[in-house]
Amino acid sequence: MRCEVCGRKIHGEPHRVIIEGAKLIVCGGCAKLGTVCWEESKPETTALKPKARRLPLKVQSKKPPKITVGTTLELVENFDVKVRQAREKLGLSHEELGKKISEKVSVLKKIETGKMTPDNKLAAKLEHELKVKLLVPASEGKISQTRIPKPASHKLTLGDLIQLSKKKMEEKK
Ligand SMILES: [Zn+2]
Repeated sequence: MRCEVCGRKIHGEPHRVIIEGAKLIVCGGCAKLGTVCWEESKPETTALKPKARRLPLKVQSKKPPKITVGTTLELVENFDVKVRQAREKLGLSHEELGKKISEKVSVLKKIETGKMTPDNKLAAKLEHELKVKLLVPASEGKISQTRIPKPASHKLTLGDLIQLSKKKMEEKK
């Protein structure tokens, strides 16, 4: 790579500078002539956006489920809240709970703040010790999620709607 100002070979990191409005890749010496630093990555920032949006997706799907026979267990979404609330209910400190299930205090804290996802083994220990449900069969969780948004009262006919609006009109009077 050559300096776009003096034409010499650039040794080491090329400098990206703006000289009189032109973006140039220059050597260390010529870098002083311009305003430092324009980012080469401008097209990248737009390309990165969709990736960044995808981040909040579940992390635990990466791990192959090791649970035996048939059912795949999945961690409930608010496991962090559940663990913390259950622990506080029992009046246990992080240290005490850590001793009971022989787990590091730092791990427990990370789990309770959602910074870490416990694996099934640890989740099972927490379940047992705290008497909470942290693992659910994967399919069951999905079904209950899709069930919620459909209210039974959705089947109104056009006639019903007219009746309803008439009633409302009358109420206003
Ligand atoms: Zn130069």
